[in-house]
Amino acid sequence: MSQVVLITGGSSGIGKSIGEFLHQKGFTVYGTSRNPEKVTGSVFPLIALDVRNAESIQAAVAEIITKSGRVDVVINNAGVGITGPIEEIPTDEIKNNFETNLFGPIEVMKAVLPHMRNQKSGLIINITSIAGYMGLPYRGIYSASKGALELITEALRMETKQFGIKITNVAPGDFATNIAAGRYHAPVIKGSVYEVPYGNTLNEMNTHVDSGSNPEEMAGAIYKIIQTPNPKVHYKVGAFMQKFSIVLKRALPDKVYEKMLMNHYKL
Ligand code: NAP
Repeated sequence: MSQVVLITGGSSGIGKSIGEFLHQKGFTVYGTSRNPEKVTGSVFPLIALDVRNAESIQAAVAEIITKSGRVDVVINNAGVGITGPIEEIPTDEIKNNFETNLFGPIEVMKAVLPHMRNQKSGLIINITSIAGYMGLPYRGIYSASKGALELITEALRMETKQFGIKITNVAPGDFATNIAAGRYHAPVIKGSVYEVPYGNTLNEMNTHVDSGSNPEEMAGAIYKIIQTPNPKVHYKVGAFMQKFSIVLKRALPDKVYEKMLMNHYKL
């Protein structure tokens, strides 16, 4: 019997790549999109789901249970970027980011856990970010939403181990997807005290995503994790220096690390 997989955000980028890879490996894949009717050519079905809407999550999970009778692997992939000087980002946009990147994945886990407990098995993979390991300048809100999801995973993993449920974090580095296009950018305000440093950082960030790795690399990593009997708590996938930045943060004194980041972003 093929394993049943739910991937939130299967219409683009990393989620789409993972879905195509697992579909090709014989998994029963359900992806999601806020607007599935607008997506053409998906090789796996896309169910309507907005992670900010708990009812749509419940309905999507119910549909999968009705059609396939179980859900073995859940990949909390849907997420959005946000940039801006924290002082200038509208509070509604900060809340929207947390709704999508943190409260959404929590709601998805709440919806699938009863089914996984009944099955006495299940694997949840939370897609976080290497940016969640450090407070990055002008990306602080994104770093915080992803860092918080990393901690939720650590806690929930211990709470659900008794039911045979496995939970893990996978933190990508920079991958070439549509994330920059879908990101909320606080406007660079002419005359603002942050105009020059924020403008420079924004240019630096966009170059990184455009020159990012192929999302197929993430698909291969996820496939390996699914086949691992006891997944680790944290995985990092991406270019060596991006992964190494986490090692440096642990090894270096805080102020040295801060200086290194500021030099990198030309601040
Ligand atoms: P992407 O190409 O923009 O894809 C984002 C996906 O999330 C889309 O399928 C989108 O689906 C879905 N989505 C967005 N908002 C949603 C919402 N409110 N409810 C449900 N689905 C929603 O970006 P990506 O790079 O593949 O990002 C995938 C994940 O990887 C995200 O969590 C992101 O933070 C993380 N990540 C990416 C990178 C990178 O460099 N690309 C680095 C670190 C972490 P619809 O628009 O069709 O609804």
